[in-house]
Parts: sequence; structure tokens; C-alpha cells
Amino acid sequence: MRWSTIAVAALATVAQAHPGHHHPSGPPKGPACDWTDFWKLGNQLSKDAEIYLPESTEWTSVSQRWSNVGTPTVNITILPANENDVVEIVKMAQRCDIPFLAYNGVHGAITTLKDMTWGIAINIRKLSSVNIAPNGQTVTIGGGTNSKVVIDTLWAAGKQTVTGTCECVSYMGPALGGGHGWLQGHHGLISDQWTSLRIVLADGSVKTVSPTGPHSDLWWAMRGAGHNFGIVTQVTAKIYPIQHTNWAIQTLMFTGDKVQQLYQTANDVFLPTNGSAQPVDIINWSYWMNVPPVDPTGPVMEFYIIQEGVTAVDPAYVAPFEALGPVASTPNTGTYRDVSAWVGINMDGPPCQKTGAANPRFPVYLERYNVTAQQQVYDAFKAITNSSGPFANSLFLFEGYSMQGVHAQNASGSAFAWREDNLLTAPLITYMPDPANPVLHEQARLAGDQLRQILKGGSGRSELHAYVNYAYGDEQVGDWYGHDSWRLTRLANLKNKYDPEGRFSFYAPAA
Ligand SMILES: Cc1cc2nc3c(=O)[nH]c(=O)nc-3n(C[C@H](O)[C@H](O)[C@H](O)COP(=O)(O)OP(=O)(O)OC[C@H]3O[C@@H](n4cnc5c(N)ncnc54)[C@H](O)[C@@H]3O)c2cc1C
Repeated sequence: MRWSTIAVAALATVAQAHPGHHHPSGPPKGPACDWTDFWKLGNQLSKDAEIYLPESTEWTSVSQRWSNVGTPTVNITILPANENDVVEIVKMAQRCDIPFLAYNGVHGAITTLKDMTWGIAINIRKLSSVNIAPNGQTVTIGGGTNSKVVIDTLWAAGKQTVTGTCECVSYMGPALGGGHGWLQGHHGLISDQWTSLRIVLADGSVKTVSPTGPHSDLWWAMRGAGHNFGIVTQVTAKIYPIQHTNWAIQTLMFTGDKVQQLYQTANDVFLPTNGSAQPVDIINWSYWMNVPPVDPTGPVMEFYIIQEGVTAVDPAYVAPFEALGPVASTPNTGTYRDVSAWVGINMDGPPCQKTGAANPRFPVYLERYNVTAQQQVYDAFKAITNSSGPFANSLFLFEGYSMQGVHAQNASGSAFAWREDNLLTAPLITYMPDPANPVLHEQARLAGDQLRQILKGGSGRSELHAYVNYAYGDEQVGDWYGHDSWRLTRLANLKNKYDPEGRFSFYAPAA
């Protein structure tokens, strides 16, 4: 176990000066413990584990988050190097009554995390591994593995599985909430690929969870509400031979006067009312954002048509949109591994940089576009993101993944409740927090909520369907996990069974 030099010095000083008392800049202590418990823990961890205090030079790199509103507060960061390290940390935290939270890709932005006001960050990025089974049917992925590492390792072996689309997000973070990805049209959500997982529960016990066996009840919950029950140290997931190496994209840019035509055409082409689903080889996303050189008067709409197995997107899909008169229409071609860069979510892309900004999202799932609501929400987004205001760098996300693989799964078979929806939409209100202007956070919340209420209103639904991994944090439990009472009861019972003290209740608590 490696203590950072500063951590050793700080602990030694603090332990001498304040035996048995809390020191604000030192590691946290629960009622039954003192500083020596951290020394003891340090001796129990493996040699590659690391411990950092806020004074450490490494602190920023191990604790800085992507979104800076409603963030957790921690006093010590521990990087376990293996599963047993996780067990020892959890047992010590439990015994000493210290809150703890898994840090992985640190893109979790839900503001319920602010309820973590002190305690231990268990940064699991050293639990990074990708091991393909000898039979080539499954892969076992460490709980702290980054998405791109999974994609690249499988690719080198001629294999694929469903992962999140963003290269800097962990594999596990998206999956615990269900998990959307480019290949979901074929195979379902990320967590639909799992065959088993290992989890460290709140009491420090390690369980193997699978569709059969002693903890099969937890299997249902882990796939959609998985943040609630423990720290997943590894999963085994199905993998597939690479079906298509070549992918293509057409990027069309529109000015705001085309909102209604654009989304009517998107409905007509990709989500026809005759019941046929969006083609499995097609994904359609769009972003709204300010690009003043293109249009200084309001946000532009960047519209992506992504197709696999081709070197250029089929003109039958592109032509109806080009007929609307885009400002630009640009083709690009490459492989599956290029797609994230095309839509700006690769390692070098803006969302992979930690700039200190707040990035709350306000998600709402939809079945189709309501063209009237699209116009209303465009007008509201334009007002909210005007160039003289604090939210000018915001983005509106409209994600139209192919859905067949998601629809094909039993809708009640996991805690992910929104399989029937086709579109994942969310404004992402980006701004720089200003300590001198704390009201900014509330203004952002009101703005984001106003936008999603327009889309929800346009859906005709009284209930909100919100992707838990995009959630702001002020939603109801049913908005994250489904409004059916059987779902909420089942989750509450499992929470009571596996996490009765609510140790894993900082991220979208299910009960
Ligand atoms: C740029 C960007 C792109 C995204 N793309 C996608 C996408 O393509 N598909 C999609 O579905 N979502 C996507 N998301 C949303 C994403 O699912 C969430 O932001 C997710 O919380 C990120 O996980 P993380 O590990 O990076 O974050 P973290 O903040 O490290 O983790 C979030 C929470 O997950 C829990 N957690 C993480 N790892 C474990 C573990 N091993 N065991 C137990 N609990 C754990 C913890 O409670 C933690 O607080 C994207 C987000 C961003 C910002």
C-alpha cells in the first residue's frame, strides 16, 4: 500500500495533535474510531493501493469531477488495487460508521451526491482489466475499467460488446443504470449483456450475482438500479464477433428556423407511425448549441445520421434532410472506433475535459418527437442560452439510438423501466459556478426543468420518464426506476435486504 508522502505526514501530525478528535483536513473518523484505524487499514491493503488526503498533490487528479454542482464532499481518497482492498475499506468504513462512495469515471452528475458531506472516496480505477474467455463468448471486465479500454481490447481480438458511447466514462457507471450504447440496437442495453457479476456489499461480504443462484433477486435490481447495492468489482458480459468494421456519418447543420421541418422529417424517416422501428443499422442524434459564426441569432441544430456497415450513409436517409436546406451537410467514414469522435465524445472531446464547469442534465425519454413541442423548447432554449447570459455554452441532446435489441428484452426483467421509449433527450445546462453568485445553481435548475417540462408536456404523459444516469437529482424515485408500484416495492424490499442502512444511497437512492 502506498501512502502519499503528504498523507503520511498529515496523518502523523494530526494523530499526535488530535488523538481521537476530528480534524477538518484529515481523514474522517466515525464515532467508534480514531486515526489509528486508518493506519491499520493502510497495513491491510495490498502494496499497490494508494491513499490521498486533500493536501496531497495528487488530490485533484483523484477527486476532481466532471460536473460541479451537487458534488460529494470527501476527506480522503483511497484507491484499492484489488477486490480484497475494497472489502477491507468497506468493512472499516462500516465498523467506524464512515460514509463512502465509489468513484469511477467521475462523470456521475446527479445532485443527490451532495448528501455525501464527508467520508471516503473509494476510487476504483485500479480495478481495470479486460479478460476474454478462452471460448470467445464472454469477457470479464474489472469494475473500474474505462469504456475505451473495453472497446479497444475487444476490437484487437475481433470482438465487440455493448458499451457506453463516451470514451472517458467508465464501463460500469452507465451499465448500472441500464446503459445505452451504439450497439444496443443489436444486443440490448449494456447490462443486458451481463451473465454474472461480483459485488462487495455494505457489510464487506463479496457475492456473486447471476440470473440463478442464491442472489438472483439482486440480479434484477443491478441492471438499472445498480448504484444502490454495493461496489461491483467485476462483471462477465457476452461478446460478439465484429459484425461491421466500417461505419459512416452524415453531419447536417441547420439554423433554428428549420426546427419543425427537421423533427417532422426525423419522425417520418426514423420513427414512422406504421409501427416499423428505426432501422437497426441507423442511429440519429442531434445537438443544439450556440455557434455564433454560423448563426449569431440563436442555437444551431447539428443533426447526425450514423450508419454501420457502409462507407457512406444511404442517400435514402440523407436526401429528405438535405431537401430542408441545411447550412452544411458533411459525410465522414471510418470504423466503429471513430464514431465517438464524430459526435465529440472521444478522449479529446469537450465532455472529457474537467474544466470546473457545472453540467447538470434534465432528461426526459420520449416515444417520438412532438413537432410543436420541439418548436416551443427551441424558443425557450434560445432565450435561456442567449450570449449575454451564464448558460450560453449549454447543449441540448436528442439521442435516437436504434432500439430493437432493447425492445426485444422482457420489459419487466430488470430494474431499467424505459424500454418502450425511443428517444433520450436532455438539456445540459453548462455554466461556471460562481461562489459570489450561488443563486446561479438554482437558475440553472429552473431553466433545465422548464425545458424538460415542455418536452414532457408534448409527450402527453403525466409521468416523467428520466434516465437515472442523466438525472438532475430532484426527480421522484419513480421517475428514475418506473412508476409501477411493483417496481418500487421490489426495489425497496431489495434495498432493505441488501443495504438496510442505506450505505449506497448517494446516487439516486431507490428507497
Ligand atoms: C460525456 C458523457 C457521455 C455519456 N455517455 C453515456 C452513454 O453513452 N451511455 C450511457 O448510458 N450513459 C452515458 N453517460 C451517462 C453516464 O452513464 C453517467 O454519467 C455515469 O454515472 C458515469 O459513470 P462514471 O463511472 O463515469 O461516473 P462516477 O461518478 O465515477 O460513477 C457514478 C456512480 O456510479 C456508481 N458506480 C460507479 N462504478 C461503480 C461500481 N463499479 N460499483 C458500484 N457503483 C459504481 C457510484 O455510485 C458513482 O457515484 C454519459 C455521460 C457523459 C458525461
